[in-house]
Amino acid sequence: MCGIVGYIGHREAYPIVIKGLKRLEYRGYDSAGVMLYDAESGIKICKTKGKVVDLEAKAKNGFTTNGNIGIGHTRWATHGVPNDVNSHPHLSNSGELAIIHNGIIENYAPLKEELIKRGYVFHSDTDTEVLVNLIEEVQKKENIKLGKAVQIALNQVVGAYAIAVFDKKNPNELVAARLGSPLAIGVGEGEYFIASDASPFIEYTSNAIYLEDGEMANIRLHKPLKIRKIKDDSLVDPYIQELQMNLEQIEKGGYDHFMLKEIYEQPSVIKDTYRGRLNANKGIVQMAGVEDNLEKFLNAKRIVIVACGTSWHAGLVAEYIFEEFARIPVEVEYASEFRYRNPIINKDDVVIAISQSGETADTMAAIKLAKENGAFVFGVCNVVGSSISRETHAGAYTHAGPEIGVASTKAFTTQITVLTMIALRLGKAKGTLSNTDFHTYLQELEIIPEKVAEALETNDRAKEIAAAFKDAPNCLYLGRGYNFPVALEGALKLKEISYIHAEGYPAAEMKHGPIALIDEHMPVIVIAPKQGHYDKIVSNIQEIKSRSGKIIAVVTKGDTQVRELADYVIEIPETSDALSPLITTIPLQLLSYYIAVMRGCNVDQPRNLAKSVTVE
Ligand code: GLU
Repeated sequence: MCGIVGYIGHREAYPIVIKGLKRLEYRGYDSAGVMLYDAESGIKICKTKGKVVDLEAKAKNGFTTNGNIGIGHTRWATHGVPNDVNSHPHLSNSGELAIIHNGIIENYAPLKEELIKRGYVFHSDTDTEVLVNLIEEVQKKENIKLGKAVQIALNQVVGAYAIAVFDKKNPNELVAARLGSPLAIGVGEGEYFIASDASPFIEYTSNAIYLEDGEMANIRLHKPLKIRKIKDDSLVDPYIQELQMNLEQIEKGGYDHFMLKEIYEQPSVIKDTYRGRLNANKGIVQMAGVEDNLEKFLNAKRIVIVACGTSWHAGLVAEYIFEEFARIPVEVEYASEFRYRNPIINKDDVVIAISQSGETADTMAAIKLAKENGAFVFGVCNVVGSSISRETHAGAYTHAGPEIGVASTKAFTTQITVLTMIALRLGKAKGTLSNTDFHTYLQELEIIPEKVAEALETNDRAKEIAAAFKDAPNCLYLGRGYNFPVALEGALKLKEISYIHAEGYPAAEMKHGPIALIDEHMPVIVIAPKQGHYDKIVSNIQEIKSRSGKIIAVVTKGDTQVRELADYVIEIPETSDALSPLITTIPLQLLSYYIAVMRGCNVDQPRNLAKSVTVE
């Protein structure tokens, strides 16, 4: 995920691009760059690792900022660490084409190989530089204009993109295209704007066109916009919308809070997580970090997972999944405990460290300790180039895009997605997962985003239940098996944003203490999908009911048994037991969110908390 901005018109492009990038920093902020064009000096590029303010500072050292056409980028790296060279814009080998890109080109590796054979040289590690050179190669070979070349090149590309491309040979034009990543075009008087959302141009024009997936636009000065379908070249009538939103609303994608936006992003970011790594039809699940170290994983006597907070809960889900699929014993440790307790670590242990930010201090220390003791350490992080991703021997990114809300949501589900893919790969290699099960799980995982989207339809129900329980002083969350960690995560979400005391328990543990808390004032949230230990959890629900507890049950669509016992049910789509945490967690996120909103809490910045815990 990243932010892109483009301008072509009568104004100076630089201030518009810079201001626009600042507004898009919520989409990514590890590097920033700008390309400007003026007839005298041609293409000028300034780019740097860091934020947009760092770019501005760098530009002050001799970068000439004049020019009425420009493109800019604020990056959230997916391919290649954040550094100056990997920052966008990227130039083609001839230096004539410049590109900015938001997304992932899945098949960049074979394309790159082919281009190298044809003499192309690459300076960065990005997938984006491959795309701009592919466009150049097409343009040269066919001797065609930029728009056509972009179109042909994009038809060879697999992946997701929102791009803007500039060609020095035809400097009155920008070409934009999208598939899977957002792109808006602002239509002004004698000027056009391109951006990931409308925030960069809101004060200049309220006329916006949102490109649909698979569409591209030729944006030429003083000419009407041409929009066409990338696949078949058919023309599309531009639909101009009048923007009604203010700046803040636009940045949050129209949602009231980043947390809600991120909850709703889950179907698409889970897809980003498995993009290029999972292909159910072909029976493939692979990640470079795992493939390169497959022997280490397969020879592991034990997997030790170290993490904190929500990542620790993702680790607990992974414990169930790894043991089931790959039959490797797993221990899940709080990083803070692990690092201070002289743990037993062996050379044939694989340690998996999970952290959204990749900067969590305790997890970092745990990694160092594990390495000192000779273990192989694998990282699961969201932020590319973060300290943990550098400190570990190998790893896999979650590609969830920046998570701004302090309460983690999409990081959790994407971490589970990565860990599930690893477990599937190992289960297949070890033969501990039957071929049929392997293929069934791959298929199931591939359609999980649609089921997550369906689970988001519980939004109104969650709101209704939130209104009924927003004043409760306590709350219990119960789940079994794969859904025990989801109960812990549900309780954590409620605690951290609504300040209601909440506890998560394995449902059967209730009898060993927590049941004493139950009376008519205690809401008990029970995760009770059809698969797993359904009958057992029905018995637990009965025990709560006999003690007058208020039952809110998360059930599989069509459930009748729990419905009769519970005060409220939330219906979710059916999936296999092992993948159910990806679905059951959704209504719990929504429930916490609405309770916090109704209590007037600061959802995105809850008191006493920080997004990335870089102190022990
Ligand atoms: N895949 C590109 C890169 O890593 C673009 C990432 C983005 O969307 O910021 O540079």
